[in-house]
Order: sequence, then C-alpha cells, then structure tokens
Amino acid sequence: MGAHIIDGKKLAESVRAELKLRVEKLIQSGIQPGLAVIIVGDSAASGIYVRNKVKACSEIGIYSEVHSFPGNTQQYEVLDCIQSLNENPHIHGILVQLPLPPHFKNNRVITSIAVEKDVDGFHLYNVGALVTGNTIFSPCTPYGVMVMLERNHIPIEGQHAVVVGRSNIVGKPMALMLLERGATVTICTSKTFDLRQFTRNADILVVATGRPRMITAEMVKPGAVVIDVGINRLPDGKLCGDVDYESVKDIAGYITPVPGGVGPMTITMLLCNTILAAERTQAGAKIDK
Ligand code: NDP
Repeated sequence: MGAHIIDGKKLAESVRAELKLRVEKLIQSGIQPGLAVIIVGDSAASGIYVRNKVKACSEIGIYSEVHSFPGNTQQYEVLDCIQSLNENPHIHGILVQLPLPPHFKNNRVITSIAVEKDVDGFHLYNVGALVTGNTIFSPCTPYGVMVMLERNHIPIEGQHAVVVGRSNIVGKPMALMLLERGATVTICTSKTFDLRQFTRNADILVVATGRPRMITAEMVKPGAVVIDVGINRLPDGKLCGDVDYESVKDIAGYITPVPGGVGPMTITMLLCNTILAAERTQAGAKIDK
C-alpha cells in the first residue's frame, strides 16, 4: 500500500483560515498585527520569497511593509532601520531576508532585532530559549513540520527521528523541536558514514540537505514518516525535493510532496508567529529575560 500523502497546501489553507480569525479578533481589540521585512540586494529568489510573504500577510489581514536596500548598503544603515522598527508600535514582527550580502555580519544584524519581534526565531537569545526548552518563537520551517505531524496525529514521543541536515534554519532547530517532544533524535550530515544505516532506522525521517532526490526507497524503513524539506530546481526548470518521491511513496507510511509539502507551511508559521507577537503585545506580556 502506498504512503498517505500529507498535503501541505491544504493544511496551510486550513491553518491560515484559523489565523485569519485570530487577526480579526486582534483588529476588533484595536491591534492590527504588523510585519516588517528587510531585504538587501536584488536576488531574484529573495524577491520572490518576500513578495509571497507580503501577499500571504494581506490575505489574512496582517499589515506588512518592505524595506528594500541596494546590495552596496552599509550594515549600519540596516541596523538603523531595525532600531526604528523595534520602536514602532505598529510593527510586531521583523524579518531580515537571508542571505545578506557578504559584507554583512548575520548575527550582528539579527541580534539587533528586539527579541519579542524576532518572528523568524533566529536571534541568539531565541536560539538559546529553544535549546533550553523555553521557546519564544519557533523557527518557521521546523515549526511547520511539527504542525504537519501533529495535525496528522503522528506520534512523536518515543519515536526515533532522524534529521538529515544541520543548518541553523532547518536541521538543528528541527532536531531540537523533535527532542523537546520526546523523540529520540539522530542528526546526520554530509560527514556521516553510511547514511543509510541511520535513515533505515528512522520512524520519522526529516530531510533538509538541498541534494535532489538523494533519499531513495532502500534508505527508508517501511511505514516511516518521511518529511521532505528540500526545494531543488532541476535543469528542466521543475522543482523536486531531497527525497526520491516516486520510489519512496510506495514504501513510506506518510510522505510530503515537493512542491506542495513543507513549503506552504513555512510562510504560514511566519504569519502565526507575527500574530503571536501581536497577541503578546495586546496581553501586555513581557518576555522574561
Ligand atoms: P544548508 O545548505 O544550509 O544545509 C544543508 C545540510 O545538509 C548541511 O548540514 C549538510 O551537511 C547536509 N548535507 C548536504 N549533503 C548531504 C549528504 N549527502 N548527506 C547528508 N547530509 C548532507 O541548507 P538548508 O538547511 O538551508 O536547506 C536545505 C534544503 O531545504 C534546501 O533544498 C532548501 O532550499 C530547503 N528549504 C526549504 C524550506 C521550505 O520552506 N520548504 C525552507 C528552508 C530551506 P554539512 O553541514 O556537513 O555540510
């Protein structure tokens, strides 16, 4: 029997409908959630991501504004912009679109965002909060994966989760979030010897490598939950994931497609974090630092 296909697009639509209600409630109480996005340089891919975020905000009633800087902007100019956004009461979330140009220091920029407005969850304080189990904002992509697992009633506690990839934005926070929920977690990287011996043992396999279709059917335990975070553009222009979907779907218990899997959930969780930030403002909740 083939795998149950987790439809990320459909799930994202239903979560966004719930979020829209939370926005309406906030607006009734006099607070419209606001997101500011900062983009430096003219990368076509970053431009598309930013436009998608702005569109998603407007669809559910979140105010958004984009601050675009040319690629030769000096770091202090972006820091000044972040400072004024930190002080702006209409802005509840601030996001810096990565990557920044090479003359920027990522951590310097990200840590200048007020912790309570860091809706990407990349501020070092927020990373520390995640590591110690006191999450303030969950990073959006792994957060989306967790929601996919939860909404499909997939057990996590006691399961062996294998995360392939250790990036700061996907692999590491993913592993921490699964660990927090009681999974036994293995993290594999490009340095792992015999990757297959680990992936074959996964009840939940999350792959975030950027290597097209590298996980094949013989690397997957029959019945496993396979979450494909990868988004790769093939020479023919088509998109594919890090999992060989066609072969793995016949053996896995659950699988996410690419496109239409994790991707739509990532922006949804950004909306969710922005609303959460606005709700905390409304409640007068202070982040206990
Ligand atoms: P990075 O390039 O930052 O990290 C890739 C990770 O994969 C590294 O830790 C690397 O190991 C590991 N890796 C690479 N090759 C192998 C291999 N052969 N075996 C085992 N591990 C390997 O990528 P990101 O985490 O940023 O992104 C990963 C993928 O997810 C990309 O396709 C990206 O486009 C996609 N993505 C999708 C999102 C979504 O919303 N769906 C959001 C963010 C990313 P090492 O550290 O040893 O080099």
